[in-house]
Parts: sequence; structure tokens; C-alpha cells
Amino acid sequence: MRVGIGYDIHRLVPDRPLVIGGVVIPFPLGLEGHSDADVLLHAVADALLGAVGEGDIGRHFPPDDPRYRRVPSTDLLRTVASLLARQGYVPANVDATVVAEAPPLAPHIPQMRRVIAAILALDPQAVSVKATTHERVGGLGRGEAIAAVAVVLVERRRPEAAAPAAAPGGVAAPEGRSGPGAPGGGSGA
Ligand SMILES: [Zn+2]
Repeated sequence: MRVGIGYDIHRLVPDRPLVIGGVVIPFPLGLEGHSDADVLLHAVADALLGAVGEGDIGRHFPPDDPRYRRVPSTDLLRTVASLLARQGYVPANVDATVVAEAPPLAPHIPQMRRVIAAILALDPQAVSVKATTHERVGGLGRGEAIAAVAVVLVERRRPEAAAPAAAPGGVAAPEGRSGPGAPGGGSGA
């Protein structure tokens, strides 16, 4: 298992839709950025990339690359999930916090969880999204920006889980794995 953390912040500006966690939220201001500036999905994507040592989304989706202009961040997260899978990892759970003075996000959180869970092939119960204000402190507290932080746990994909070898009527023997407790076991990376 490996863990990753992601952090992101975007300015609130006029004439932009407010998209957080893949949900369009009615609000006079939206987040500024070259994509849809979905601060929550960016934090989650960065956490996933961090968990497998693949840098950040700025590296994989350069802001000056016209291909990623106005691209929905749901697409970016989907691409990151594929990259993770190619490395042999799948997400186990996500925990995230969005810091926004306004608007109230609570009504939208169930949908955000469903969106993220669907992209990462997780149960929504394994995707936690929380919202807090910044207690009117600083730029975040004045509503000039919205930030998000996310932590993810990823685990090695088990090929046998994807393609179960059907032993008719047979009960598989418990995995006799030589765990990390085995003497003389070398430490992995
Ligand atoms: Zn971002």
C-alpha cells in the first residue's frame, strides 16, 4: 500500500462556472484556470500521482498545452486513474477537504462523492469529501479563492481478482503469503 497527498487552490473570478468535485454549483463566481479548474478533482489527482511517485498534474497536463484548455477535470482524473492502473495500483480510499468560505457545499457533497467514486471504481463510502470555511482568515476567508486537500491510499491491483480462476466447487486455499513479518525479508522500496 502507498499513500499520497494533494493540495490545490484556485482564484474565484467572475464569468466562470463553479465546478467542484465534478458538480456544477450555482454561484456568481467560478474558479480561474486553464481547465475547468476543479480544485477538488485536481487535489485528488495529485494525491494519486503522488502515491505512485509520478509527480503532479502540472507535469502530466501542462497548463500551456492547448489540448487541456477547458478540458473537464473528470477527464484528467480518469487519465490519472488509467496511469495508476498501468503501474499496477488501484485506489483504496480517498479523504478530501474543500476550504470555501462560500457557497455552502454540504448539499453537493453526496454528488461529488458519487462522481469521484465512479471514476475511481470505488464505493462512494470509500470516498470522503468534507467542507470547511477558513474562518474569515486571509484570502481564503475573504472568499478570494477555494482550496482543497486530499489524501489517498492505493494498493497493488490483484490480477486474480480481475480474472478469477474458476475452480468448480472448490474452495480456494487461504493465501499462503510470506508477509513482511517473514524473517530475512528484504525491505521493499
Ligand atoms: Zn488546479
